[in-house]
Amino acid sequence: MARLAIGVDFGGTKVLASVVDVDTGKVHGTGKKKTAATDGPDELMQRIYGVARKAVEKSGAEMSEMTGICVGIAGQVDTERGILVGTANLSRSVVNLEMARLLREEFGIPAIIRNDVQIAAAGERAFGAGRGVDDFVVIFVGTGIGGGIVRSGELIQGAAGNAGELGHTTIDANGRICGCGGRGHLEAYASRTGMTRALWGEVRRGRASVITELLPDVNPADPAVPPIKSGVLQKAIDRDDPVVREVIEEGGHFLGLGLANVVNFLNPTRIILGGGVIEAVDAFFEAAVRETRKYALTYAGEEVEIVRAGLGDFSGVVGAAVLAAEAAEAT
Ligand SMILES: [Zn+2]
Repeated sequence: MARLAIGVDFGGTKVLASVVDVDTGKVHGTGKKKTAATDGPDELMQRIYGVARKAVEKSGAEMSEMTGICVGIAGQVDTERGILVGTANLSRSVVNLEMARLLREEFGIPAIIRNDVQIAAAGERAFGAGRGVDDFVVIFVGTGIGGGIVRSGELIQGAAGNAGELGHTTIDANGRICGCGGRGHLEAYASRTGMTRALWGEVRRGRASVITELLPDVNPADPAVPPIKSGVLQKAIDRDDPVVREVIEEGGHFLGLGLANVVNFLNPTRIILGGGVIEAVDAFFEAAVRETRKYALTYAGEEVEIVRAGLGDFSGVVGAAVLAAEAAEAT
């Protein structure tokens, strides 16, 4: 009989849940919902319950057949106690939330929580671009930038569960303010949020861009302007828009700087890049690869393999399910 588990990936803009066969990586059913930055703890848990139930229903299996559930979420996670300590992308009221306990009570199956990129790293390791490699780093570029580190085949969590937070490393000590409140962090330059701000800033300064045509309803002066979708960025590049190209090149440059630091510090065999903007916008991926090799120590920079994620949008849910099954069987 197939060993099934539920993987949930709670990101900045959507929450995705899948029932996954943890021996093959095959996805049997999926539920998906948008998330809102204003969500409090109750809304957050209700969204997770909803998508998880939907995934089980679509898979044709029963909740009681699930080995366990794991939720990966962008934020600080106490994996040991199953508590979401805090998160930069959601309401400030979501702190010290006992997610694992609430999930166990709701579904009656073993439950754990992890950081969102740690689950993606686990998915890529089990069934994606990390197969057969013992030392690699996974970096996901979305509304923020997260990273996961696999060393000698083990996912490194760090003392506080925050290993791999590349998005909050400093690349310009006097630079832009980051969503976390820090200054000059990579995420403020190379995430979709950071590049969106830079782009609308150029428009406000009077530069002409097709982006105003592609997104006619956006007011560039609105401080809460949402991150531009990757597909829209690629459309602007297809139309040879110089402003979008410049912002994408700049974002790729800064991502490359951050990755060069990773190469010099960890010397991984492979770097796996994921997220919509990496998948959809070739110019961004290419700039990041070029700049990584340029700024890294020569030999390490030449040797490191830089590839795109193998499971696309499903790295996180597949990895979460694998971790859920592993944790359930270890107890
Ligand atoms: Zn930050």
